Amino acid sequence: MKTKHNFGAGPCILPQEVFEEASKAVLDFNGLSILEISHRSPEFIDVMEEARSLVKKALNVPDGYTVLFLQGGASLGFLISAMNMSGANKKAAYVNTGAWAKKASKEGKNAGLQVDIIASSEDQNFNYIPKGFDISSDYDFLHITTNNTIFGTQFKSFPETSVPLVADMSSDIFSKQIDVSKFDIIYAGAQKNLGPAGATVFIVKEEILGKSTHQNIPTYLNLLTHHEKDSMFNTPPVFSIYVSMLNLRHLLANGGVAAAEQRNEAKAALLYNEIDSNPLFKGTAVKEDRSNMNVTFVMTDDALTDEFNKMWNDAGLVGLKGHRDVGGFRASMYNAMNIDSVEVLVEVMQEIATKKA
Ligand SMILES: *Cc1c(COP(=O)(O)O)cnc(C)c1O
Repeated sequence: MKTKHNFGAGPCILPQEVFEEASKAVLDFNGLSILEISHRSPEFIDVMEEARSLVKKALNVPDGYTVLFLQGGASLGFLISAMNMSGANKKAAYVNTGAWAKKASKEGKNAGLQVDIIASSEDQNFNYIPKGFDISSDYDFLHITTNNTIFGTQFKSFPETSVPLVADMSSDIFSKQIDVSKFDIIYAGAQKNLGPAGATVFIVKEEILGKSTHQNIPTYLNLLTHHEKDSMFNTPPVFSIYVSMLNLRHLLANGGVAAAEQRNEAKAALLYNEIDSNPLFKGTAVKEDRSNMNVTFVMTDDALTDEFNKMWNDAGLVGLKGHRDVGGFRASMYNAMNIDSVEVLVEVMQEIATKKA
């Protein structure tokens, strides 16, 4: 039985019921283990189809979009999205909101595109989301990272543009309602909010399939390949997809994304409120762009860090150490995190403040 509160940035926590059901399927899934069944078996084809359709249901994906479960993580998604979106002008615009966004733009170059960073928050160590920038209409696409896992910032609204929009949503997909019709490609590694590592979900406007101007696009990296094969071109990551499907069932049975969004807002409000009112702590991201998924903060007196570390460790919290690019602390509060866990963290923060007052 789990005894700790996991604030780690990924892989993510999942609902206890999902862990339990997944563990049963490891031992017995229609007389075999889920780990050994053929991906061509009718049982797994049903799982794949249900997973794809639950993604559509959870995010109200409009007609004309296909949902695919691929491998390679968002890191390969950087390249896949750029190759598949290569258009007439062979040039792409990227918003640089941090380490993952930068890696995405690097793969745009590897896809043979001219890459322009049209906006960046690097001047302030990525503590805000650039806004109000111009996007000339001759770009093949604009790429954004909707939630910046490392720096704790999140797009609260998406850029208005006539240029096709591509988004890495690895760390906030299914955490809030979105208008999928604004995007040509959305992609996300499963392990931040959907399921175990291994699968990468793609939501793709069917119109773009097969239109890439990239020469000799490798078969696996061509999204048309996977669409034509119903996401079964080769052996998919069976277990990751199965558990993602269970998690989506659980999400939809508990009010869907709309209810998850409210729970996430309540958790974020609780913690940000403490950060803003407790004299020992300070948030690192500007208020209007703060992420509801990854909360980054530092202590106002570094000398207290060791003591605070010991206190939260003793309280059963794990994964709170900040990324080295930001320092301090990062509390990742993905969908499955209960507000009770956030309350434990807040109590520890209050306790150290009382001690030092
Ligand atoms: C974790 C993360 C990635 C990298 O994902 P992989 O699946 O490990 O390749 C990319 N983008 C964002 C926003 C992330 O949080």
